[in-house]
Amino acid sequence: MYGKMQEFLQKELADIREAGLYKEERVIVSPQQAEIKLNTGKEVINFCANNYLGLSNHPKLIQAAKDAMDTHGFGMSSVRFICGTTDLHKTLEQKIAEFFGTEDTILYAAAFDANGGVFEPLLNEQDAIISDSLNHASIIDGVRLCKAQRFRYENANMESLEEQLIAAKECRFKLIVTDGVFSMDGNVAPMDKINELAKKYDAMIMVDECHSAGVVGQTGRGVTELFNIRGEVDIITGTLGKAFGGAIGGFTTGHKEIIQLLRQRSRPYLFSNSVLPAVVNAGIKMFDMMSETTELQDKLHENTDYFLGKMKAAGFDIKPTKSAICAVMLYDAKLSQVMASKLLEEGIYVIGFYYPVVAKGLARIRVQISAGHDRKHLDKCIDAFTKVGKELGVIK
Ligand SMILES: *Cc1c(COP(=O)(O)O)cnc(C)c1O
Repeated sequence: MYGKMQEFLQKELADIREAGLYKEERVIVSPQQAEIKLNTGKEVINFCANNYLGLSNHPKLIQAAKDAMDTHGFGMSSVRFICGTTDLHKTLEQKIAEFFGTEDTILYAAAFDANGGVFEPLLNEQDAIISDSLNHASIIDGVRLCKAQRFRYENANMESLEEQLIAAKECRFKLIVTDGVFSMDGNVAPMDKINELAKKYDAMIMVDECHSAGVVGQTGRGVTELFNIRGEVDIITGTLGKAFGGAIGGFTTGHKEIIQLLRQRSRPYLFSNSVLPAVVNAGIKMFDMMSETTELQDKLHENTDYFLGKMKAAGFDIKPTKSAICAVMLYDAKLSQVMASKLLEEGIYVIGFYYPVVAKGLARIRVQISAGHDRKHLDKCIDAFTKVGKELGVIK
C-alpha cells in the first residue's frame, strides 16, 4: 500500500535536493570538542557546535555520569509522577533555580518539550501571547498548541512590541515571549526595554535562554544578568544541550505556582520519560562548577572579543554581538556555501546559512566560539578566513 506515497516522497526529496536545501550530515568519530575527527579521516577545528563552555567532553561531567550509573542505574522507565523522580532530579531542579534566582524548576527531556508544554496549561482564549518574530521553532509550536490569542512583533523591535501590547490590552493575561539570544544573528533581546514595556502594559515575560544561559552576562547567568533584571522575568526556559554540557535535557524555571501547575498539566512532562540519572548527575556537577568559578565564562568572553577584533581588523563584516555567535556576513547564498566548503578544506568546520534559514540576501557564515578553543584554534580560524576571504574577493 506504500507505492503511491513512496512516489510522492521520492519527488518531494528530489525537489529538496534540486532547491539545494537537502541537509547532509557529517559523521564525527571522536568526542565533541574543539578538535574533532570525521569518518573521512579528516581532522578539523569545530566552530559550529553549541559547546560554548567546552563542557561536552569534560572529565568531571563524564565522571559524574559514570558515578550515577553506579548509584542510580541506567534508565528510569517512567514518567516523573509515577516512579521517575530520584533525589538527583530534585537536586538538579533546585540548582537550576538557584542559578537563575527563581523559585522552582521543572525538568523536561529537552527544551523543545519545555517550550512545547509551557503555554497550554497557563493560558487560554482570554489571554495573549506576544511573540518575537524570530523566536525558536519550539516556541512557535508551543504557541500553536495553546488557545491564547497570538500577537507577533518584529525581531527585537520595541515600537512593534508596544503596538502589539496595545492591540492585546483587553486580554486577561499578557505574556511577552522572546529568545534571549537569537541564533542566526547572535543578537541579544533588549530585555531592559522589554521589561519597561511589560510593566507599562501589565504583561508578564518569558525568555528562552537556550543560547544565552552559561554564556551571556559576566557570570553566565544569562540575559537577566546582562540587563540587571534578575528575578524580574516570570518564566525562563533553557537547555542542558548547549553550554551546560551538551547532552540532553531542558527546563522551565520561575514562580513556584507556575512550576507547580506545569507539573500537574504540562503534557510533555506528564506523558514522556524522565531524563536518565547519569545526565542529571552531570548537570548537578556542572551547576556546582558554575557556582565555584567564572573561569569558563571569562575564557569564552576573552575568546569572543579576540576573534571579533581580529576578524573586523581583517575587513570582515560581522554583526554586532554580545553572545558567542559571530555572524560573518556575505549576503550571497552561493558564496556562503563555497566559502564554508573551502574553509573545511583548510580544517575549519563552519556552516553557511542562507534563505530560508535567514532572510533573502542575508547569507552568512555562523561561527560559534567556545571556551574550549585555545588561541591557536582561533588564530587558525582567522588565518583560514583571511586566506579564503581574499581568494573569493570577500576582503581585500
Ligand atoms: C536549541 C534551542 C532549543 C531546543 O533545545 P533542546 O534542548 O535541544 O530541545 C529551544 N530554544 C532555543 C532558542 C534553542 O536555541
